[in-house]
Amino acid sequence: MKLGAELITLKEALTLSSSELDTLRDDLKNKIEDNKNLGAYVEQLTNTEISGAGTGVPIAIKDNINVKDQHVTCSSNILQGYISPYNATVIDNLEKAGLSAFGRTNMDEFAMGSSTDTSCYGKTLNPLDNEKVPGGSSGGSAAAVAAGIAIAALGSDTGGSIRQPAAYCGVVGMKPTYGRVSRYGITAYSSSLDQVGPITQNVEDAAILYDIISGHDAKDSTSADVEKTPVTPNLNADKKLTIAVIDNYIEQASPEVKKGFDKAVKALEKAGHKIVHKNMVDTSKILSSYYIVATAEASANLARLDGVRYGNRKGDAGLKDMYIQTKSQGFGEEVQKRILLGSFVLSSGYYDAYYIKAQKVRHLIKDEYSKIFEDADLILSPVAPTTAPKFGSFKTSLEMYLSDIYTISVNLAGLPAISLPVSNDEEGMPIGLQLIGQAYDEQTVFDGALSLEKAVAYKKA
Ligand code: GLN
Repeated sequence: MKLGAELITLKEALTLSSSELDTLRDDLKNKIEDNKNLGAYVEQLTNTEISGAGTGVPIAIKDNINVKDQHVTCSSNILQGYISPYNATVIDNLEKAGLSAFGRTNMDEFAMGSSTDTSCYGKTLNPLDNEKVPGGSSGGSAAAVAAGIAIAALGSDTGGSIRQPAAYCGVVGMKPTYGRVSRYGITAYSSSLDQVGPITQNVEDAAILYDIISGHDAKDSTSADVEKTPVTPNLNADKKLTIAVIDNYIEQASPEVKKGFDKAVKALEKAGHKIVHKNMVDTSKILSSYYIVATAEASANLARLDGVRYGNRKGDAGLKDMYIQTKSQGFGEEVQKRILLGSFVLSSGYYDAYYIKAQKVRHLIKDEYSKIFEDADLILSPVAPTTAPKFGSFKTSLEMYLSDIYTISVNLAGLPAISLPVSNDEEGMPIGLQLIGQAYDEQTVFDGALSLEKAVAYKKA
């Protein structure tokens, strides 16, 4: 496959003239065409022209973010034919800064998954090894950046969907603090967990894109009205930090990920950072809490897709038939499973036993993070227990859910985190680690990441 020809960075692209940007967009279109088999863009899978009429720096957009007059389908049959009448706030923010939406990236249906193989359009391949998954649910965005067919991309992260595909593809992915980036115009999966963030070629580009998309938005009631200082002009890789590692979590990683982790810890120590050791609530409780909260909220959010106002309407034998046919033909298996689970945990008689309990565990997780941050500026953790697995490695949904142990607690606690590649496994697949910070302290997250990026000097295999 013809891949990896170095693309310019976002920082460089922002200095181009409008005629140079026209050339860049044409080049990108050709490269996207040449790498069709990757399936990173919905357009590659549907043989259609790359969407996006803007003339700014091209940014690839996950197919769950509304771009005015463009199809938005969350890679689901139920939204076929839907055209957005408005821009998400993140898209308005891109345009204000001279960037434009360019192409729709493939994803797990409704952002539920870890592999980008539940899309109704077909799967996205990992550009580094086509037999392996690119991760999910923002696998299209991560694969596009890794393959050199996107300068940078936006993804969404409900339980790891930016950080994990970034780790599997060897690029940088950042989830901001809950409330930092407007959710207006993002198709909701789990409203109390979802955040949009950048997927980029390096840490500095992630900071640039984060600065552009973030900020208070009156159109989103969950957007935080807190002061925001741009992180990029203040980036400082030389700040000496205290970084915590959670010992009882590392044990659950594969030997190769552990090896990559140890190497990164040594590099951080050598760069002058102090490492402290901590423990946290066991991951099985985190997993249960996340899959109860996320599916409960998903069942409520997806209820609107019933064929009446939204949804590709099916069934003509009355109202009930329309509901049943629209939903059973429109939603894929994993989405249906989660709607059923979510409806169950919210149902009378089970609400207290499951949903309320999960919310209590969520508070506990938040408290445990706060305790760690009394003694540390950042936490270093794996992103996933293994490097990218082969397609079909997970035999059941539960096996797939287990691969989320390192990412989901960050969303439950609403914290910012960034994933970056630190080394490669024996097969040459990237090992990604994440740095987790305190709420609204994105500056320290980016400073630490820049320092780690320099300290490990990661090279593709
Ligand atoms: N893998 C997780 C899930 O399936 C995370 C998804 C996400 O962050 N959108 O729910």
